[in-house]
Amino acid sequence: MNRGDSPGLAPWACWPGRSRGRRFAEPAAATRDAHQRDRDRIVHSNAFRRLVYKTQVFVNHEGDLFRTRLTHSLEVAQVARSAARELRLNEDLVEAIALAHDLGHTPFGHAGQDALHACMTPHGGFEHNLQSLRVVDHLEQRYFAFDGLNLSFEAREGILKHCSPRNARRLCAAEPDGPARRFIDGTQPSLEAQLVNLADEIAYCTHDIDDGLRAGLLQVERLEEVPLFAHWHAEARHSRARAGAGATSAQPGRRVVFETLRRLLSALIADVVQATSAAVAAVQPGDVESVRSSPPLVGFTRDQRRAVDALKAFLFSALYRHPQVADTTAQARQVVTDLFEAYVARPSEMPTDFAAAEDTPRAVADYIAGMTDRFALREHHRLTGRRVFVET
Ligand code: MG
Repeated sequence: MNRGDSPGLAPWACWPGRSRGRRFAEPAAATRDAHQRDRDRIVHSNAFRRLVYKTQVFVNHEGDLFRTRLTHSLEVAQVARSAARELRLNEDLVEAIALAHDLGHTPFGHAGQDALHACMTPHGGFEHNLQSLRVVDHLEQRYFAFDGLNLSFEAREGILKHCSPRNARRLCAAEPDGPARRFIDGTQPSLEAQLVNLADEIAYCTHDIDDGLRAGLLQVERLEEVPLFAHWHAEARHSRARAGAGATSAQPGRRVVFETLRRLLSALIADVVQATSAAVAAVQPGDVESVRSSPPLVGFTRDQRRAVDALKAFLFSALYRHPQVADTTAQARQVVTDLFEAYVARPSEMPTDFAAAEDTPRAVADYIAGMTDRFALREHHRLTGRRVFVET
């Protein structure tokens, strides 16, 4: 059997032997198929290692147990792989897309992204999904023959999750059949790409509850107002009551939270598998091309979709808009804005590659987007003399 003819994959999955290929042709690897190779290239990239020092919701120094972009990406990969195996989709490809999906994120999470987008608005804007593609296509510099990681079309298709029509037209002008084409044609990406998108949502909904409780910004009593949480919380407490004297007594509150969240996580994954299997069975796509021309097929059941939306609305108002989070957000925006202005005024403050670029604002955006939280703070102090987020 040829490498890439994977008998375990469904006909509608991405078969590595049928990949649309890479931008620069390369001989096949001796021991790995196309999408294993994609995943390995991402794991060895500089941008991947930087994710460990990038904020998800909470700034890195706030505590060692909060999610970072790296642990978030690993959790997305775990969720996506679980569902992919059940659905007979390509696990290596979902892992590659999951590990790469946030490579383009700026330091300081969404606050950093919003600030950089505001700075870049007169120069074409800044979109983090597009930036993730830019990282794997151009900014990583490791090979003699090309810039970027030269990933497969299928990996790049999954990484470019969203794209504005204007940027889609610009990307298509350079690469007519590239991953931006679907935003003009209105078609869908592979099931692997659709699955990672939903796995991202599942991962952050559950882990942000955990981080929010740990930070003391959310309370279990308030979370009880959210039916999805209340349901699994009741289940966890009943299970503890049934265990009676046999229940482990240390940290009972935390254990109930973990038991709640692991039930919630399993239930969401099971729901996606069920709803997606039904949608695929109804459409019967013959191959991945037929997936691309079908409506979206990966999703929750209708009731679960509503329940997840209610949870997201709660997290949005109670956690992401919490005054304490908003305070760090305002400071983070200031850091990114100050850095942008400083480098545009004096490009020579950046490393030579960036300083010499023809398009200074874009080079500044690329440089800032690649920074970890702590490197951005050090540069900010060096360039402005001010200290922000001083550890206490
Ligand atoms: Mg994400």
